[in-house]
Amino acid sequence: MTDRLQIVEGDITLLDVDAIVNAANETLLGGGGVDGAIHRAAGPKLLEECRTLGGCATGNAKMTAGYELKARYVIHAVGPVWRNGTVNEEVLLANCYRRCLEIAGEHRLKTIAFPAISIGVYRFPLKLAAEIAVSTVAETLRKFPGIETVIFVCFNQESATTHQAALDTIYADAPSF
Ligand code: ADP
Repeated sequence: MTDRLQIVEGDITLLDVDAIVNAANETLLGGGGVDGAIHRAAGPKLLEECRTLGGCATGNAKMTAGYELKARYVIHAVGPVWRNGTVNEEVLLANCYRRCLEIAGEHRLKTIAFPAISIGVYRFPLKLAAEIAVSTVAETLRKFPGIETVIFVCFNQESATTHQAALDTIYADAPSF
């Protein structure tokens, strides 16, 4: 299982994969961070399509074309804002990762790249978010054998190291994953 999961440090907008995931907000009309970077790289048609979607609930995701990106599609996922663990944030974050893989599976996509959803402006604790991201993806991939590779794209070294540690823990706990 873990050979289907990769952790890289870099800029998600540059990846040549079937779909990149966007850490969007409920409006789906663009924002800062990775959302802003994806909209800049994809060009204005991405926002045009996003306007037709009617927003998206926290914990859910919706797909668009990738326009000027190398990626064919963008899956816009809305992560939870961290409020000290009081509003079901852990479940909502797991739902984001699961929904993205379900959408990828439904569309027979093979390669998908995730940013670290919610750990930027939404302030989710990095270690907890990395554990949820890696374990939810590993678990969900069992149901989608057609998805060959999932890449966690980390924007700095601390994030990459933390995601790698979470992945190593999963592998140590369940080598057959
Ligand atoms: P959120 O609002 O869900 O917290 P952010 O965009 O603020 O989303 O941050 C999510 C993560 O994405 C952060 O770790 C941030 O450093 C990272 N990030 C920002 N730009 C990029 C990019 N171009 N590629 C990959 N990750 C990015």
